[in-house]
Amino acid sequence: MRILSVALLLILTAVPALGQVSAIRAGFLVDPEAGTVLRDQVIVIERDAERGTSEILAVGPNAAIPAGAEVIDLSDHYVMPGLVDSHDHLGITYKADPEDWYYYFTVIMDSTPLRAIQSFSTGFQKLSSGFTIVRDLGNNGLYADTALRQAIEMGWVPGPTMINSGIIIGAFGGQFYETPEREDVVYPEYLNADTPDEIVKAIRRNIHYGAKVIKVCVDCQAYPYTVEQLKLFVSEAANAGQKVSGHVQTREGARRAIEAGLWSLDHDNALDPELHAMMAERDIFRAGTETPQGIPGRELSESRWERRKASLRDAWEKGVPLVFSTDADYFIPGLDRGELSIEFIKTWEEAGIPNADILRAMTVNGYRISETTETRGLLKPGLAGDVIALAANPLEDINALRDVRFVMKDGMVFKRDGIVMPMDFFHNGPAYGWRKR
Ligand SMILES: [Zn+2]
Repeated sequence: MRILSVALLLILTAVPALGQVSAIRAGFLVDPEAGTVLRDQVIVIERDAERGTSEILAVGPNAAIPAGAEVIDLSDHYVMPGLVDSHDHLGITYKADPEDWYYYFTVIMDSTPLRAIQSFSTGFQKLSSGFTIVRDLGNNGLYADTALRQAIEMGWVPGPTMINSGIIIGAFGGQFYETPEREDVVYPEYLNADTPDEIVKAIRRNIHYGAKVIKVCVDCQAYPYTVEQLKLFVSEAANAGQKVSGHVQTREGARRAIEAGLWSLDHDNALDPELHAMMAERDIFRAGTETPQGIPGRELSESRWERRKASLRDAWEKGVPLVFSTDADYFIPGLDRGELSIEFIKTWEEAGIPNADILRAMTVNGYRISETTETRGLLKPGLAGDVIALAANPLEDINALRDVRFVMKDGMVFKRDGIVMPMDFFHNGPAYGWRKR
């Protein structure tokens, strides 16, 4: 009886919400692929509330607006597809003082449920700044990242599309310096995997628990993975249709990661012109996590800052596929996580990367590294309805991205006139039984 009435309720509530159609009148439509702006375009988007999906039906100057569609007037805005942060950790927000390991470990030692709620909050903040896709690369306790991805995909809460890694896999000790008395500290932040069997098991375990990309710490210890071991990572991940992103911090580690054919190299510390040339040749993504100078508590030495900019510039000149990535897993007073992430454009600007290419790193290349190009990203018919809008033209001034006025995620308006208004998400989500792995 109870089952019947729930089923009836489901039918009654789901049916009227089906096929919501929105039509955005875009005064200026930014095409980051071409680096151009089109005037007076209409984007028609349909949302399937039951499945929590959306589809762009038409884009063009004369796209017909179906009867009953909600017309969204952005005729004085620069409308564009959503942004991608290709490297963050939504389940960590440690406090300002990076020298203070107490704070760091407090977050690491927090419960997975608490970190899942933290991840929701962090993802919410990222979406507010226009990040509609986030690659969440580990340090989420026992799969808080998968929990958030599922909750977003099921329509329980608003958030970016999540490409999550589950637990970071590393050689004994992960990224920690353990003491023999407390060897257990490494887990669940890292999965130790030192032998071929352990590597295979760690990858399968992550995929089983909902990872969509594999994250390996290539050279976090004095015993970095060999090329052969890294190739095993790549082949085992590929067996499940997944890619491997590698944290690299030494030149030799980076070289091995390139030779083994990893999908992306994360962090710029170890990269140099010779490695950039190899990455360009093999089409390996560079997720440099380029913290800008001037973040309180994260100051760089002048030489480090100069090297960072020169390295990014060199990678751009060599044609390495560049993605925008932050690793911004800390709290800076006065900035939410989205605003903090946008601060990173300063590095790109000061490295002399043209605005159109910064925008490509934040969009087109972000969709490629996330492997979402067939499903979402660009504003093209057949893809999902992820749309943002700015007050000014980012191709003229990239800092226009600091003021995201409008965000639509999967056909639902999340932010309008600069104000987040997410209650639609909580009400319209498919609340029943649509569980995704
Ligand atoms: Zn990271």
